Amino acid sequence: MLLFKRVLDLQKYLLTQKNKGLTVGFAPTMGALHRGHISLIDRSRAECDITVASIFVNPTQFNNAQDLEKYPRTPERDIEMLTESGCDILFMPDAAEIYPDGTTPSVKFNFGKLDRVLEGVFRPGHFDGMAQVVHRLLDIIQPERLYLGQKDFQQAAIVAKMLEILKLKTEIVTCAIVREEDGLAMSSRNVRLTVEDRPKAALIHKVLTEAADMVGEYNPSEIQKSSLLKLKAEPRFKVEYFEIVDGRTLLPIQLFEDTDFAVAVVAVWVGDVRLIDNVILKQIIEENAHDTEGY
Ligand code: AMP
Repeated sequence: MLLFKRVLDLQKYLLTQKNKGLTVGFAPTMGALHRGHISLIDRSRAECDITVASIFVNPTQFNNAQDLEKYPRTPERDIEMLTESGCDILFMPDAAEIYPDGTTPSVKFNFGKLDRVLEGVFRPGHFDGMAQVVHRLLDIIQPERLYLGQKDFQQAAIVAKMLEILKLKTEIVTCAIVREEDGLAMSSRNVRLTVEDRPKAALIHKVLTEAADMVGEYNPSEIQKSSLLKLKAEPRFKVEYFEIVDGRTLLPIQLFEDTDFAVAVVAVWVGDVRLIDNVILKQIIEENAHDTEGY
C-alpha cells in the first residue's frame, strides 16, 4: 500500500494510473478502523482497479470540541488493517493540506430539508463540515465510485444530493452495516463504551429489529411509540430520536403505503457515547435499479 500525505503527490500518482485507463474507488474515513470500514475497501477492490482510503479526522464536522478531542486515533493499527485488506492507497493528510485557505467553507450547499432533520437537529453544523470535507476529497481524488456506509444513512443521502448539485459523475455505492455478534453496529466510538454499558448498547439493534418485525401489523407512529418506550426503559440510555422516515426525503411517514422506501433511524446516548443506527423497514426496488446493496 502506498501512503500519501500530500495532495499534489497523490494527484500526480493517480493521474499516471488514470492515464492507463484504471478506475478509482474511494472510501473516506476518520480512522480508528474496524470491519465496517474494511467492508467498503473490500467492495471497492471488487469493483475498481485502484482503491483509495483516506483517514482524516475532520475538525469542521465536529460540533462538540470534546467529541473531537476524544475521537479515537489508532493510525498504526489502521495502516496495518488497510495493508492486510489489500487497499492500494492511503491518503492521510494534515488539516493544512485539506484546508490550505483556512476552514471557512468556500461553498455552502442547499440540501433543502435533508440536513435539517434528525442528526441536523442535534448536531448543528455537522453536515456543513461533512459536505465540505467530502467535496474537497472528491475534488482531489476524482474517483469513479465513492464507497459509503449505510450506517451513516443521512450522510449518504446528503452526499448523494451534493453530487447531484455539483453534477459530478462519481457513483455512490452504499454498503450494508457491519455489526458485532450481538447486533451492535460497528463504530469507532464503541471503544469508548464502558464495560458495563457495552452489552446494554446491543438493545439499540434489538429494538430496530423488533420494529422491522412490526411492519405489516402496525403503522409507523405505533412502531415509533413502542420502540421509544423500550429504549427509554434502559436507564443508561438517553434517546435523542427514533423516527420512521422516507429513505429519500428523510421526513417522517404516516403510512407505509405512502412510500416505497421506509427506514427507522435512531440516535442514543449510551452513557457519554452517542451512537446512531438504522434499519430499512421497507424497500421496493425498481427493476434495473442500480446498486442498492445496503439500502
Ligand atoms: P467514519 O470513519 O465513522 O467517518 O466512517 C467512514 C465510513 O465508514 C462511512 O461511510 C461510514 O458510514 C462507514 N461505516 C462506519 N461504520 C460502519 C459499519 N458498521 N458498517 C459499514 N460501514 C460503516
